[in-house]
Amino acid sequence: MFYLLVTLAVYGVYRISREIIGNRAHLMEEEIRDYKYKRRSLSESFQRRITNHIGTCEECREQFTKIMNE
Ligand SMILES: [Zn+2]
Repeated sequence: MFYLLVTLAVYGVYRISREIIGNRAHLMEEEIRDYKYKRRSLSESFQRRITNHIGTCEECREQFTKIMNE
C-alpha cells in the first residue's frame, strides 16, 4: 500500500514537472503560425501550452504579437 502511494506521488510530480517544462520551452515560429491559421484543429493541450507560455514569456509574446499582426 505504501509503495502504491509513493508510486502515485512520483507519477504526479513527474506529470506536473513535465507540463511545467513543456510550458517553459520557447515557442517555435511554426507553432505560432499553426495557432494563428489552424487553431480549430489544434489539441486543447497545445493551445494551452501556447497561451500559458505567452503569459509568462515576454520574448515569445513579442514574437507572437508580431506574427498575429502579419
Ligand atoms: Zn518563450
